[in-house]
Amino acid sequence: MPRFIFVAGGVMSGIGKGIATASIGRILKSKGFRVTAVKIDPYINVDAGTMNPVEHGEVFVMDDGTECDQDIGNYERFLDETLTTNNYITTGRVYQAVINRERNLGYNGRCVEVVPDIPNEVILRIKKAGKLAKADFVLIEIGGTVGEYQNMLFLEAARMMKLQNPKKIIFILVSYLPIPATIGEMKTKPTQTAVRLLNEAGIQPDMILGRSVTSLDKPRKRKISIFCNMNTLDVFSSPDVKSIYEVALNYEKEGLGNRILEKFGLPSVEQDFGKWKQLVEIIKKNNKEVKIGIAGKYFQTGKFTLMDSYISVIEAVKHACWFFKKKPEIHWLSTEDYEKKPQKLKALKKFNGIIVTGGFGTRGTMGKLKVIEFVRKQKIPYLGLCLGMQLAVIEFARNVCGLKQAHSREFLKKCKHPVIDAMTEQKNLIKEKNYGGTMRLGAYKCKLKKGTKSFKAYGNKIHISERHRHRYEFNNEYRRILEKNGLTIAGINLKRNLVEIIELKNHPFFVATQFHPEYKSKPLKPHPLFKEFIKTCIKKT
Ligand code: GLN
Repeated sequence: MPRFIFVAGGVMSGIGKGIATASIGRILKSKGFRVTAVKIDPYINVDAGTMNPVEHGEVFVMDDGTECDQDIGNYERFLDETLTTNNYITTGRVYQAVINRERNLGYNGRCVEVVPDIPNEVILRIKKAGKLAKADFVLIEIGGTVGEYQNMLFLEAARMMKLQNPKKIIFILVSYLPIPATIGEMKTKPTQTAVRLLNEAGIQPDMILGRSVTSLDKPRKRKISIFCNMNTLDVFSSPDVKSIYEVALNYEKEGLGNRILEKFGLPSVEQDFGKWKQLVEIIKKNNKEVKIGIAGKYFQTGKFTLMDSYISVIEAVKHACWFFKKKPEIHWLSTEDYEKKPQKLKALKKFNGIIVTGGFGTRGTMGKLKVIEFVRKQKIPYLGLCLGMQLAVIEFARNVCGLKQAHSREFLKKCKHPVIDAMTEQKNLIKEKNYGGTMRLGAYKCKLKKGTKSFKAYGNKIHISERHRHRYEFNNEYRRILEKNGLTIAGINLKRNLVEIIELKNHPFFVATQFHPEYKSKPLKPHPLFKEFIKTCIKKT
């Protein structure tokens, strides 16, 4: 039976519970253990697929097509593992399974109750994830913050699991310690309250990771120890760091990994971070910058700019820059600006490369088309991702092939030249409003064309597999005219004859993909297309 480590959050959300969980995973993996991680999201949505990214950050997609929380992306990046739908639990999924079982007489006619039937289903799922991954350790991150109504049943599941197998389970609380400017001192009271709330749920944390601007000093650790009823050795610092990839190294400075092993009655093991350490050194160095502009629309919320919606794209850019020992400098291009003020386009010349990201709906597309036209003409390296490919096709059809009314059927139902269109099965789904989990999702094979930039980028491989999330496709009826005018189809899905990659010749780098390469980039294994893109961008620095 694997060992289970529950990670819950205290005081407030957004303090990096996901990164903490992923970093603990990295540490245990560096000690030679098999690790998997499960994310529990308390929302009722069955998956993250129907959520607006501004609400909940990026929708990450796994190989098996599950649309999930961005933390799964962090786990895959930190653990260098491919996770599956079993690693993702939501209230919606749990209730759906329990209700289906009840409808199938799976409870043998007895009354089905919130407790214990819902926590039991959660436990079943956690155990299944561990078994399928043949893991020594299963990390389970409970979304939300302790004290919320939303995640109570998950804490209850954790408590029940501990009762069943006390030696196989520990609890870690990631809590926040504010340093109010007017006081100038790190305060422990909110964390004390968080522990008390956890106690109310019948759980005593085995360890606390204290998130704050700086490290926790001795008096703080002592206070937490006394008031939270724990050994000072179990109180760890988790100060702000420049890069998330540094977090694991920081924890190890205080011996977190071996302390976890000790809790489970296991002997200490030396860890080997290997190239991870060198990577952190590269990240911290003041290397020459590569300026990348990312055009999207999911970053404005009130007066704040969010980066969460594009986290995998950002990470993929960083991984590729670090590979070349360069410093990524990412700028947000709010495309709606270019719709109103096209004169602003000139400023794009200062970038070494431009990315147009995925997206849904009409808002911002006009501006993205303008950006694409500009980078095509000005020969600025371009990487188009999903919608970024579809718009590149529309722009090319309009401005190079003379199909002035070219568009995507997503934006204009009755368009004259639907160069991007939905397949029949997707049209039916849209008609039925059957939206949840029905896009073209997950890994599909793609055959590359020899001699193309993509073929070269993937190291002269013919067959690749990449993750998808879209309803619309390149319309093959327009393939001939677009190719005749100079568009290269660099990759296709043979089974359905679908265009997966387009490229332009006579341009330093103009590559756009129907799939999302960003989902598979890893810190120590940058994605080949991002690598090739950044390599070209560097030439322009
Ligand atoms: N909206 C487009 C589609 O559904 C592109 C999706 C995306 O960029 N992920 O096909």
